[in-house]
Amino acid sequence: MAFKNLNLIDPILKALALEGYTTPTPIQKQAIPLILEKRDLLGCAQTGTGKTAAFSIPMIQLLHEQKKQRFGIKALILTPTRELAIQIDESLAAYSKFTSLRHTVIFGGVNQNPQTAALKRGVDILVATPGRLLDLINQKFVDLRQLQFFVLDEADRMLDMGFIHDIKKIIALLPAKRQTLFFSATMPPEIQVLADRLLTNPAKVEV
Ligand code: AMP
Repeated sequence: MAFKNLNLIDPILKALALEGYTTPTPIQKQAIPLILEKRDLLGCAQTGTGKTAAFSIPMIQLLHEQKKQRFGIKALILTPTRELAIQIDESLAAYSKFTSLRHTVIFGGVNQNPQTAALKRGVDILVATPGRLLDLINQKFVDLRQLQFFVLDEADRMLDMGFIHDIKKIIALLPAKRQTLFFSATMPPEIQVLADRLLTNPAKVEV
């Protein structure tokens, strides 16, 4: 099976070809059609399985297909560490190369000014770590009222790192009508409770 059998649009197929991707990984094969059908998703997958592309590609496609774009953040990807955040942002750059979607990444431990400057210019897809995101929300640099997609990446690691309170505060600010994609390598009870709270009739994908 090839990417062209997944109903992907030309700007994405072109970007994937440029990256040298020929065949979707198992999680991509399963998740891409479900996300394109606008389903919520519960994905049990580790880093290295291709999960970043599995959620990014269909999200980019759905956003690109919306002709009339209002100003505002349409998608939020929450991830536990700055390294993961930077990697995801680099993947977004690659996959959205032939679209006009704008993305940026925010994380703590560095000066916030370049990050707030990017936010002011306008961002469709925001990659963030929880602490800096809350900081910039509180300072009114981030407004999530236009949000359509929420991705929670590495949920179990978020919990281990003590981010659960930050995550709950962020979740409380999200529009109720949205598509949520939830990824975790493991599914302990506390993660299952969080998933049940966040997801509506989710499709389950395990690799
Ligand atoms: P991830 O699990 O999202 O961190 O991805 C792991 C690595 O696999 C990244 O370096 C991706 O660039 C690469 N990758 C993802 N999907 C594919 C694919 N379909 N074909 C080849 N490489 C891929």
